[in-house]
Amino acid sequence: MGIIAGKTVIITGASSGIGEATAIRLAESGAAVALAARRTDRLDTLVAAIESRGGKAMAVATDVTRRADLDALVTHAVARFGTVDVLVNNAGIMPLSRLDLLDVDGWDRTIDTNIKGVLYAIAAVLPGMKAQRSGHIISISSVAGHRINGGSAVYAATKHAVRVISEALRQEVTADGIRTTIISPGATQTELFDKLTDPAAQRRLASAAEIALPADTVARAIAYAIGEPAEVDINEILIRPQAQES
Ligand code: NDP
Repeated sequence: MGIIAGKTVIITGASSGIGEATAIRLAESGAAVALAARRTDRLDTLVAAIESRGGKAMAVATDVTRRADLDALVTHAVARFGTVDVLVNNAGIMPLSRLDLLDVDGWDRTIDTNIKGVLYAIAAVLPGMKAQRSGHIISISSVAGHRINGGSAVYAATKHAVRVISEALRQEVTADGIRTTIISPGATQTELFDKLTDPAAQRRLASAAEIALPADTVARAIAYAIGEPAEVDINEILIRPQAQES
């Protein structure tokens, strides 16, 4: 993992779950991490924990649904650490419910966070990465980006969109020395399940929560993609708990 050391990595959604685990793992491997989310109290605690172990970290209050927040995040990260080598597009929400429940506000929030948030972050880092002729954009999709289930329409649509955007981006930036990676986790132990409000969705995902992988399992996959040499691009990783059938 020597190639992780010295890199600056922006992680969106770093206040819990996969983003938090990734921040800890990458900082322990010698990366400087710029941590973005809305819950700044959680980010501040994480920065203090990383710094107490000798790591480099900063927190930036960021709502990924606001483009200006992503631009400011990159400006702050460059001001503090000099450059941005890696973006981990991880912030996401999953307010699952059947379409006929008409949670239109939830659809809007899911699209704004999971698709537009990813695009805004790409927009914020891409000019700098092209100018420096290197970079790595990692986007967290999901098994729901590969499979479609009733009750997951909008979430699955956003996670399919993440894969589409990342693959098109890959083709566009190969000549610029920029790598792109899609990470598609199956069930992972995070707050995502706790935030479900629809009882049918809670019932449907209860068994998935029981077999869910630790968030650090996904963080290891992210670290693997970053740690490979510059001429190697890990385009896509799909990770399920061994016991997850669908
Ligand atoms: P968590 O709920 O633990 O983490 C989600 C993170 O996203 C939080 O840090 C949250 O921070 C952040 N976030 C949400 N909305 C915004 C916003 N508008 N602006 C900035 N940050 C935001 O869940 P996970 O760790 O599981 O989720 C991380 C990613 O992994 C998501 O994209 C999710 O879809 C994906 N995933 C998760 C799976 C699982 O089983 N857990 C499986 C497959 C994919 P805050 O609220 O502080 O802003």
